[in-house]
Amino acid sequence: MPQSETALKKNVAVIGAGWAGLAAAHTLQQQGMQAHLFEQSHTLGGRARKVHSRKLDKVIDNGQHLLIGAYSETLQIMQELGLEEKQCFLRMPLAIATPQQDFRLRVKPGLPSPLHFLYAIGCAKGLTLPDKHKLVQALLKLKLRKWRVTSGQTVAQWLKQEKQSVWLVRFFWEPLCIATLNTATPEACMQLFANVLQHSTDAGKQASDFLIPRSNLSALWPEKLNPQIPVYYGKSIQQVQRTATAYQIDGQDFDAVILATPPAQCARIIGNFPDSKNYSDLLEALGQFRFNPIITITLELENNWDLPLPVYLLKTEDPARDPGQWLFMRSSFVMDSSRPEVTVVISQASHWLEKTKEELIGLLLGQLQRQAPAHAPLPPIKGWDLITEKKATFSAEPGLQRLPNRSCLPALYLAGDWTDTGFPGVLEGAVRSGRQAARLLVQDLI
Ligand SMILES: Cc1cc2nc3c(=O)[nH]c(=O)nc-3n(C[C@H](O)[C@H](O)[C@H](O)COP(=O)(O)OP(=O)(O)OC[C@H]3O[C@@H](n4cnc5c(N)ncnc54)[C@H](O)[C@@H]3O)c2cc1C
Repeated sequence: MPQSETALKKNVAVIGAGWAGLAAAHTLQQQGMQAHLFEQSHTLGGRARKVHSRKLDKVIDNGQHLLIGAYSETLQIMQELGLEEKQCFLRMPLAIATPQQDFRLRVKPGLPSPLHFLYAIGCAKGLTLPDKHKLVQALLKLKLRKWRVTSGQTVAQWLKQEKQSVWLVRFFWEPLCIATLNTATPEACMQLFANVLQHSTDAGKQASDFLIPRSNLSALWPEKLNPQIPVYYGKSIQQVQRTATAYQIDGQDFDAVILATPPAQCARIIGNFPDSKNYSDLLEALGQFRFNPIITITLELENNWDLPLPVYLLKTEDPARDPGQWLFMRSSFVMDSSRPEVTVVISQASHWLEKTKEELIGLLLGQLQRQAPAHAPLPPIKGWDLITEKKATFSAEPGLQRLPNRSCLPALYLAGDWTDTGFPGVLEGAVRSGRQAARLLVQDLI
């Protein structure tokens, strides 16, 4: 780059190295800016990161993540970083099945969208004919209404309106809503759920594909970021100084700042500005988010569990004793899986938090033993770890005011899965938010 250009290069501080901050830094760098990442922890990835499990003496993730084919901007960044999709993910057509295969819904590859999904419902095992009819009718109605629903409607209200049967609600809609919005149907925002259904059933035949990471989440792409982006680890930023021209952090000048932290931390930084009372509306909006937990359990097995699919739906027949919702057969997709292991995900896990880890593991093992097929019983357990993310995602309720990326402060932008992305709290929302914040910043600064 010529020297004059280097001199003109704007310095931008990105606070928070979750997927939103990382996507912002990557996009800024691509657009000729100099991004600097400030991260309070010592790991890249935020809520989608690697952790060292002392119990299992190995690197695991803070939570099992599933991506889908519709995550186009995430896949785009990974492509820009020169990463091979096949090395990074196991891609498979959408398949939702229980271990005993008493419920099975599989998309047939090759059919155009949304026919592929309608065909999957038509051929689904475990659904009665009237249930299939009701399900297709509800989806077609949504499509005809261009995926717009009554404002303020919850998913439970919509399910009632569409006369979905108790069975369909319990074993199809509720697990799907909790898995995608991490919010139970009586509280969940139907418009956000409709957006998810649109992205996965009506956005091209590969949009509904499952993409299961083969490596830990930090290694997937965060650690492959351009090395010219300095990362300041262990830096919990509480204060950003405003100067005559722009901003200062730790005595270093920046032309602009992207706050890519959760809303409470954004509020703390903005609240520390001397004129913060001028931003009371923004501070109030940042304060209205509520969060729901996700628990992830990793089980190390004595020997391989002989189940053919990489992921299964677990039935929560008795809500008091069946905690597990999704079972991931990690040995079938993880690159360096030397020991057989599975992970189990419990989303919207609030009412399990009062159990001890040991109690929860006991209940889960009972559930897995009951739901394993007779020809493939659960192998003996060698070890386990359990991670609770108390604030895994925001509670996706109707009427929640999501914030735009451009804030009311000059040269200060917001990024994160909680901003106004049209997605619930998911990786693709975080990535799109980070990229959009960076694009707006470049537009405004140049
Ligand atoms: C257990 C679990 C399972 C999930 N499963 C899925 C899934 O299957 N599919 C899916 O798409 N999504 C899933 N999600 C959601 C997904 O992980 C999030 O949507 C996404 O990671 C949010 O990224 P973010 O960058 O917006 O926020 P964060 O990841 O929270 O990033 C914020 C970053 O800011 C840092 N920070 C905070 N305060 C400061 C400060 N003052 N100074 C400096 N740094 C600071 C934090 O350490 C963090 O690194 C899951 C989340 C969890 C927790």
